[in-house]
This record gives sequence, C-alpha cells and structure tokens, in this order.
Amino acid sequence: MDKLHIIGHQNPDTDAICSALVYQSFLRKKGIECEAYKLGELNNETKFVLEQLHLDAPKTISKLDNGSNLVLLDHNESKQSIENLENYSIYQVIDHHKFSFETKDPLYIRAEPIGSTCSILCKMFDEEGIEISKDEAIMMISAIISDTLYFRSPTTTFEDKELLHRLNEIAQIEDVEKYSLDMFAAKSDLGNISPQELVKTDYKEFEFGSNTYGLGVMETTSPSYGINRYDEIKQALIDIQNQDNLKGCFLSIVDILEEKNYTIYSDDNMRDELIKAFNATEENNILHLGNILSRKKQIVPKLKESIEN
Ligand code: MG
Ligand code: MG
Ligand code: MG
Repeated sequence: MDKLHIIGHQNPDTDAICSALVYQSFLRKKGIECEAYKLGELNNETKFVLEQLHLDAPKTISKLDNGSNLVLLDHNESKQSIENLENYSIYQVIDHHKFSFETKDPLYIRAEPIGSTCSILCKMFDEEGIEISKDEAIMMISAIISDTLYFRSPTTTFEDKELLHRLNEIAQIEDVEKYSLDMFAAKSDLGNISPQELVKTDYKEFEFGSNTYGLGVMETTSPSYGINRYDEIKQALIDIQNQDNLKGCFLSIVDILEEKNYTIYSDDNMRDELIKAFNATEENNILHLGNILSRKKQIVPKLKESIEN
C-alpha cells in the first residue's frame, strides 16, 4: 500500500493533533508506512500537552502530492479539511462528528457518537490487541479531557469515562482533575493574541440552508478575558464574515467551570438567528445562550434546524 497521510482538521485542537500522532504509532506498530501532519498551528492547550511529553508536533502542511492517500481524523467535512480535498484519495475516516460526506471511491469509515476521536482509537488498540504506551495513553486522556471538557460536555459518554480510567492505569497521572485544570489554564492563557486569531483558534464553517456560517468557540476558565475584548472581537467577526463570504459569524465564549455561554455575533441577522434558535437573552450586546457548551451536539444541530425551517 502507498504511504498513508494522516490529518486532523484545520484550526487543530488537542483531539485532532493527539489522534493523528496516536494513530501514526498505531499504524507503525502494524508495519504500515504513514505520517501524521497538522493543518495549522497548535493551540496553547495542545502545546502544553506535547511539552509535558517532550514530543514534537506533527509537521504543518497545506498540500500534498495529487492522489496521495489520506486518513481523515476528527473531521470528515471538506470545509474543515486540507484544501482541494478532491485532489486526494481518501483511504479512511475515523471521526465522532456528523457526516456531510461524499467520496469518489469506497473507503474505510469508523464513526462513533463518543466523546473524542481518541476514544475510538483506544478501542481500536484493544480490538486489535496492540499495546498502548504511556505517551499514547497520556495523549488519549488529554484528548478525552479536551473534547469533553473533562466530562462536563453533553458529548460525554459512559464509555469515555471508562476508557479514561483504563488509560490512566497506563498513564499513571496522579491527579487527573488537576491535570485537566492545568490543560484548561494553558488553553485560557491567550496573552495578546489578535482578535482574528482568537476567533479562529477553535473555528469551523458549516452550511446551513444554502449559506455558510463561521462558528468560533473559545473554551476558557476566564471568560472576562474575551468579554473585555468585545469591541475588537466584534470587528474581527465582521471582517471574517466579509473576507470569507459568510452569511453570519459568531464567537461563543464558553466558561468551562461555570458552564455558561456568552456569544458575540457579527451582525443583526446573526443575532436574530441566534435568539430564535436558542431563546437567547441579550445583555450589553452579548447573547446568553444558557448552558450551551458543545458546538457539535448543541449549537450546530439547533441552529441548523432553526435556520433551515
Ligand atoms: Mg476536534
Ligand atoms: Mg474531537
Ligand atoms: Mg473542542
């Protein structure tokens, strides 16, 4: 088989990076030639995780040779993937998101409604009887913590809890709660990041009806950092909407510990759509969406339904 190129989504999060690295070692243990890449820079949380392990990040790429064999991890929508996805051959997808997907050729798909892509990988190790190393266990635990906000997100399943517990028999993290808080603190420490970067750190585009919307999420333990930068963020959202030809654009500031959502929107149309979909209330131009933590399980389905009906 030709070499497999493993990629997570654009604006990578901890699950996109750790799942690519873990799957690279999984395939190499099976003697399969492969390499993991990333489609963008690491966020501070993922940097923290890799620094703990003294591991290098995968190489950043924006294109590969035409016809290259891809494994898509933690995503399946072309808008979130490598540019010109149609130039490549998709060998496999392993993901825990909704599918919006059409391919030229048959392929392997492994999809589960579970908390993280690494949760699926952990099960694959077990199914194939492949041993998990300490570094791999710590990466998978980190991805589960990151994607489920340490079991606060409604995307969490009973299996994620069991898998984390089992992985920690290998990882031996003494205080997982404290490790999760250290990860969230690293993610919340944004320094003087530009407002456009802030919006685009954890950002995905979706098609609702016949229009494209940009949805940013800032998961943080210090929501005031984002709220205090309201004017700059609002302007960045307007600029992104214009540059990227979007119908609407917003940033949800998710307070991980208080489980609250503060949303800054690009324009009045976006505001009205959000109020309609979530019964949101407004205070100082910021919408309160309630305890909405998950873009995948709460924001996208509700907004899609409300806009399309
Ligand atoms: Mg992800
Ligand atoms: Mg994920
Ligand atoms: Mg996430």
